Amino acid sequence: MPTRNRVRSVPTMAKQLEEMKLSFLLCRTERHKWDIVTDRDIITDQWGGVVRFTRHNRCDRCDAERLITISTADFTVIHRSPIYPPGYLARGVRIPVAEARREQFSRGGLKIAKRGRNR
Ligand SMILES: [Zn+2]
Repeated sequence: MPTRNRVRSVPTMAKQLEEMKLSFLLCRTERHKWDIVTDRDIITDQWGGVVRFTRHNRCDRCDAERLITISTADFTVIHRSPIYPPGYLARGVRIPVAEARREQFSRGGLKIAKRGRNR
């Protein structure tokens, strides 16, 4: 009996946007609302001066997290590790911010003008 490859179909971008939590849409269009959870993994030199540390942030709106490692030489970020909650990332497609904005707007109950009218 021939075996069939099971390929899980990826929902369309429109379908994924329809099912996306409003908080995820808002963070995609308005950016995350980062708060500081803690500073950790503090690396010091032999005199106890901080060389670098990792800041743990969490978004107040969508619960995404990120770890950013910061060098105290110039306080630039030298490493980033984002951690997204389940359902935040789209499957198989990149969602443009404008499409997230369109979905967010459509949930507000207002109609979108027909093309060519009232522009
Ligand atoms: Zn967020």
